[in-house]
Amino acid sequence: MVNTQAYLDLKSHLATTNTTLIAVSKIKPASDIQTLYNLGQRAFGENYVQELCEKQPLLPNDIEWHFIGHLQSNKVKYIAPFVKMIHGVDSFKLLAEINKQAAKHNRVIDCLLQLHIADESTKFGFDEKELYVFGEQYEIEKANLKNIRVRGMMGMSSFSDDEIKVKAEFDKLKTMFDIQKTSTFLFDPNFDTVSMGMSGDYDLAIASGSNMVRVGSLLFGRRN
Ligand SMILES: *Cc1c(COP(=O)(O)O)cnc(C)c1O
Repeated sequence: MVNTQAYLDLKSHLATTNTTLIAVSKIKPASDIQTLYNLGQRAFGENYVQELCEKQPLLPNDIEWHFIGHLQSNKVKYIAPFVKMIHGVDSFKLLAEINKQAAKHNRVIDCLLQLHIADESTKFGFDEKELYVFGEQYEIEKANLKNIRVRGMMGMSSFSDDEIKVKAEFDKLKTMFDIQKTSTFLFDPNFDTVSMGMSGDYDLAIASGSNMVRVGSLLFGRRN
């Protein structure tokens, strides 16, 4: 069940910190999304391509869809017609494919680079060295990448109750973001988005400089 009070409380809390809320609706029915839409929410996050493609036509056209899951290159074409932002870019191959598919629809798709900040090996994303290599490749191909904008970075902390550890992971992402932002090879003039924080740790993430949180279960209830 949608917790509308939690939504309203979170919205007013986030307004004081200028943080964008992505309501993560994976596994939840379109009717739940409509409920939050009716309260004014426009940005929703989904993890699975097929599920997103099923729900999108059922819902209002002015929803901003954020793809936050792990994306395979061969599936980009299904979401390219409508997706607003792809959070989990973790290879140059994927970025190039997003650019190619966006071009087919005459669109520009915003992208975030996923950084590996957790200690778990199951979480995707670049480490520092890989990010550097990616940056070099990006520099070479830049002129051909007119249909994407690399707008910032995204990360997921370790699944842990240890706040000091989680905070340190968020701080690490923010530091890498800041370094990138002042670097001579800029991904985009509007490189401004730090996507980190979920239901259990969004306050810690905001304290570390997040300006986009992805919150699911707090709003939509637990997922099965
Ligand atoms: C599921 C998911 C979320 C939301 O998690 P909650 O704990 O339900 O708030 C955020 N980000 C990503 C990448 C997710 O997969």
